[in-house]
Amino acid sequence: MSTNGQRVAIVTGASKGIGRAIALRLAKDGIAVVVNYASSRGAADEAVAEIEAAGGRAIAVQADIGGPAAMTDLFDAAERAFGGIDILVNNAGIMKLAPLSETDDAAFERHMAINLAGTFRGIREAGRRMRDGGRIINFSSSVVGVYGPAYGAYAASKAAVEAMTHVASKELGRRGITVNAVAPGPVETDMFMNGKSDELVQRIVGTIPLARLGQPDDIASVVAFLAGPEGGWVNGQVLRANGGMI
Ligand code: NAP
Repeated sequence: MSTNGQRVAIVTGASKGIGRAIALRLAKDGIAVVVNYASSRGAADEAVAEIEAAGGRAIAVQADIGGPAAMTDLFDAAERAFGGIDILVNNAGIMKLAPLSETDDAAFERHMAINLAGTFRGIREAGRRMRDGGRIINFSSSVVGVYGPAYGAYAASKAAVEAMTHVASKELGRRGITVNAVAPGPVETDMFMNGKSDELVQRIVGTIPLARLGQPDDIASVVAFLAGPEGGWVNGQVLRANGGMI
């Protein structure tokens, strides 16, 4: 907790989509937020302005989570602005769909750099610098379990995130730090909608028992639960929020 008693969160990839909803929700819950983005500076600034207009505290910090220095930069920025870190949400991610036989090295390595190595470096930095009693929330996907065609690089990166989540929960538990992953099903963001026809979206909705796409706020409320006092006994779990599709 910071000197004024306020908890502090870093949310990676918070300029858009699920990350943006998480940043807004955590701020609403009284948490100071570092809004990370890679290229969408205007959108990140807007998220910060929205948080501040509602009486919250936030800063926008640029960092490519696929790069080696991103996590140290983000922790440095959080410490400078708010005095320390209590919550890390490793939300930033990419998904480029292609059969494995048509996936080139660069695409494979970019999935691993952002989705997996970014999460690894976040957990490592949190293990060194997060205050006791903190929370780490990683991002998997319900694709882990479904394993549909064309999801090879993406699903592999997310399955590895789940593996690290289990290990980290056992390493950091003694300090009261919980480590969990959220594995959303289809959520209506740029990542999911880009390149899909209406017909394909409707076909996917047909596989979801609750018969609708998820919205970013559906996932933000799961993260808020894991980050908040009521989630304190949940550790080393993968929480699948997907309308019951798997
Ligand atoms: P999105 O709409 O594509 O938004 C991605 C966000 O991540 C943007 O704010 C983007 O910022 C940021 N980002 C991308 N690459 C980055 C990088 N290298 N460094 C820093 N930030 C980066 O994605 P989303 O749907 O909200 O997905 C969020 C997370 O949920 C991801 O981990 C994704 O795998 C997971 N997920 C999503 C779904 C779904 O259906 N949407 C389902 C399962 C899991 P810039 O615009 O600045 O690049």
